[in-house]
Amino acid sequence: MSWVYITTPIYYVNAEPHLGHTYTTVVGDTLKRYYRALGYETYFLTGTDEHGDKIAQAAAAGGTDPQSYVDRISGLFRSTWDSCGIDYDHFIRTTDVEHKAFVQKILQRIYDAGEVYFGEYGGYYCYGCERFYTEKELVDGKCPDHQKVPDFISEKNYFFRMGKYQQQLIDALQARPDLIRPERYRAEVLAFLREPLEDLCISRPTSRLQWGIPLPFDAHYVTYVWFDALLNYVSALDRRGGDSLETLWPKANHLIAKDILKTHAIYWPTMLMAAGLPLYQHLNVHGYWIMDSGKMSKSLGNVIRPLDMKARFGMDAFRYFLLREMAFGQDAKFSEEALVTRINADLANNLGNFVSRALAMQQKYFAGVVQPLTENWPQEDIELRDKFAHAEDELKDYMAELHFHRALEAVWSALDYANRYIVQMAPFTMIKDDDKQARVGEVLHHLLEVVRTLARVLAPFMPETAVELRSLLAIGEDRLAAPWGEGLIAGHKINPPKVLFPRIDTDAKK
Ligand SMILES: [Zn+2]
Repeated sequence: MSWVYITTPIYYVNAEPHLGHTYTTVVGDTLKRYYRALGYETYFLTGTDEHGDKIAQAAAAGGTDPQSYVDRISGLFRSTWDSCGIDYDHFIRTTDVEHKAFVQKILQRIYDAGEVYFGEYGGYYCYGCERFYTEKELVDGKCPDHQKVPDFISEKNYFFRMGKYQQQLIDALQARPDLIRPERYRAEVLAFLREPLEDLCISRPTSRLQWGIPLPFDAHYVTYVWFDALLNYVSALDRRGGDSLETLWPKANHLIAKDILKTHAIYWPTMLMAAGLPLYQHLNVHGYWIMDSGKMSKSLGNVIRPLDMKARFGMDAFRYFLLREMAFGQDAKFSEEALVTRINADLANNLGNFVSRALAMQQKYFAGVVQPLTENWPQEDIELRDKFAHAEDELKDYMAELHFHRALEAVWSALDYANRYIVQMAPFTMIKDDDKQARVGEVLHHLLEVVRTLARVLAPFMPETAVELRSLLAIGEDRLAAPWGEGLIAGHKINPPKVLFPRIDTDAKK
């Protein structure tokens, strides 16, 4: 039995779910559905990261205690994914008792193995980033992300001997060229590793911060938030029990945005090496969504909320846009105009019109009853079938490389062909000729085969639409895999058409 283990980052609860979180989560959900349909066993993990300075400060600012604060925001993430129909298998929280115990177990293990030492450290600490900066990293003496002058802090802390693993990590990256994908990010990590790799401070004194997991070997310290958070990917499997660690962990596919590349490409693999665990299978890194109106922020009022998008455009239309618009790994632009254009052109016109035309003609000419196919198909019919077979082959190749936009493009290219097939065959003209009734029945049969194929190939991307297409054809899931021409039996009655994606009137909006 083959496994695919898919993870999103655990989202930090200092913000509510927005576009960036939604994209990563939708990609994870799409991959899970795709691989499950291929017969793989799948496990899809998401959750929330809940410790650290920023959380303690946010809770205090809101006049509440950290636990109540994280319960509320974590609950918001979970209910958002539920409302969006995200099919995760487990939602992990770093405040779960099982996770805390696991982090302590790993800390004790690497401490006992001599991988951790106590030392003095002085540095520029940015509370916003929850990390120390070297002087070189600061821009005009300020944190490049927060534009604030960091505090200089000198204190005794525990350090993980990360530097020791530098060569081992370089070797792993060279031995496995697809460990980090796309390639540009692997190159970025290798470039970073040309400089000496420093050890990692993995503790915070409780005099400064209590909101964290206590170090098992020193109660005066809590665990650095990243050391705690990264372990979630393994701790969830440990908790799942059985042989999860052995079977699922080596099949781990992490999905992240490029802002957390360093923690996942350097901290995390070296932590795994120290803990005696194998590396993940792939670290899959995507770019940013760039807003037309500038960087997404609360103050600009341009934060995209998934539930707003779902309410206004439908979840499937939103999913389609996210997957079709962004080339995985690169930045993409988000604008409502672009979203509406895609919905109108690709979904309302191309897909929606095709389906409603095919079903309307079937209804009008044959009262919805599927007509038989002859044994020898005309060349045009064979070409239509082959066009979709080709698109499905291409889709497979593209999905293996996370080229979601290309996969959808391939399907839509076949759909264009099918729309042209209708025009060329002109069943609406042939039907007037008494001698051509049987041929019209065949042409429509092939159009319904297109709809059935779409119900199969679009399911990972647009799950609700796929179910809708299947119910319009009045067939069970078991009919989806049948070869072209064998999925629908002559005499079977399908349902009348309905509008799948209403056209959005762009003039009325203004
Ligand atoms: Zn900062």
